[in-house]
Amino acid sequence: MDIKKNQIYRMNIDDIGEAGEGIGKIDGYTLFVKDALIGDEIEVKVIKTKKSYGYGRLLKIIEPSPFRVTPRCEYARVCGGCQIQHLNYEQQLKYKEDKVRNLLERVGKLKNFTMLPILGMKDPYYYRNKAQFPVGMSKDGRVITGFYAKRTHSIIDIEHCYIQAPVNEVLTGIIKMWMQETGVPPYDEEKHEGLVRHLLTRVGKRTGEIMVCLVINGKKLPAGDDLVRRLKAVTGMTSICYNVNMAKGNVILGDRVVNLYGPGYITDYIGEVKFQISPLSFYQVNPEQTEILYGKVLEFAELDKDKVVWDLYCGIGTISLFLAKKLKFVYGVEIVPQAIADAKVNMEINEIENASFFVGKAEEVLPGLYEREEAYADVIVVDPPRKGCDEELLGCMVRMRPERIVYVSCNPGTLARDLRYLEEHGFKVEKVQCIDMFGMSVHVETVVKLERKAR
Ligand code: SAH
Repeated sequence: MDIKKNQIYRMNIDDIGEAGEGIGKIDGYTLFVKDALIGDEIEVKVIKTKKSYGYGRLLKIIEPSPFRVTPRCEYARVCGGCQIQHLNYEQQLKYKEDKVRNLLERVGKLKNFTMLPILGMKDPYYYRNKAQFPVGMSKDGRVITGFYAKRTHSIIDIEHCYIQAPVNEVLTGIIKMWMQETGVPPYDEEKHEGLVRHLLTRVGKRTGEIMVCLVINGKKLPAGDDLVRRLKAVTGMTSICYNVNMAKGNVILGDRVVNLYGPGYITDYIGEVKFQISPLSFYQVNPEQTEILYGKVLEFAELDKDKVVWDLYCGIGTISLFLAKKLKFVYGVEIVPQAIADAKVNMEINEIENASFFVGKAEEVLPGLYEREEAYADVIVVDPPRKGCDEELLGCMVRMRPERIVYVSCNPGTLARDLRYLEEHGFKVEKVQCIDMFGMSVHVETVVKLERKAR
């Protein structure tokens, strides 16, 4: 069948895209349909066609998906934060596990590996410890904070977010009131004018400590004392600061942080290990599931007191320090200098001595140390950002011949690509464990255990 623009068809939706859109096939031709859900049978009008895929508009749901639920949040459809709140949680988990398995088989060409059942959350709401709210002005001149509408930069004024820590509602309320009353202006992205761009908050889920950081388009924050006075009234308020970002564009944070109140960081625990977290450092957003994730890393690494481990992309040293008591020595590598400064402090406050940290790109630091000093590893742990590992790094890991590799990934596409490389170069994928760290979104975290093949 030839699929034509402006024609109307019937189709079944059997997949979910990156923005939560429905995906299905008409006679082998793939169509992306906004607002359609996995399991729906729909009537669709084709609005745009390309060679191998096209886009359709949902006209009518003929048979609704049995997995549809009413989202708790009234903004779920428009907000870019949650893509699949209208899909029941059990099916969200199934979808994520299927997605990972398919990518590993299709892109990774992997066979004969054990896929463990995905580990979901006890309660998939209010789980995030970090929020980044854009700040702006409504048409009638009110200060608003909330989230960007899907695929746009227009801000929807949202007070209650069902996946954030509830205290955020209090914090955004205080910031808005402070801006209204002191006349500190929000930033206007189009004109590159005004001051307050984003509000960044972090909450230590175990400690209750709160950090507030305003990202501003300026070097100085006016009425800072007044802001501190208001925010200090919130129970748990530990650290207040601002971050200078005067650049145009989408990057949220600038390099410079100015402290207004408190020690400049908050603390939190994962398992028994205590962490200091600065505003610019990466820290997993779902602490409860993070403990489960790191527990899996520990299990897959099969450590004992003789093992030397490298933890690449280590952030503030969370995985390194979580593992440290179970091994001989751990080395961490991370690109953000502030995160490594935190990692070193974290080592001290936990009285851990068998760890050492390096600042730099993993794909430069590790090959450098391997060539010059014959750096050695029994086990290598990697936890790269979405773009995955550099081939330079994978090559070096292969040359180092560790017994095993534990790969932690937030992007199954690049994970599949990298696992294929490692399988072609002497390693075998044994176990794959998906963990849901990001309920209501399409994202999924995966931990993989690879063993070196006997030669
Ligand atoms: N393992 C840590 C952090 C994982 S996030 C944790 O669980 O908390 C990925 C980290 O990789 C970030 O801290 C980021 O700053 C860092 N990073 C990004 N590119 C890098 C590179 N080329 N080399 C080393 N670290 C990098």
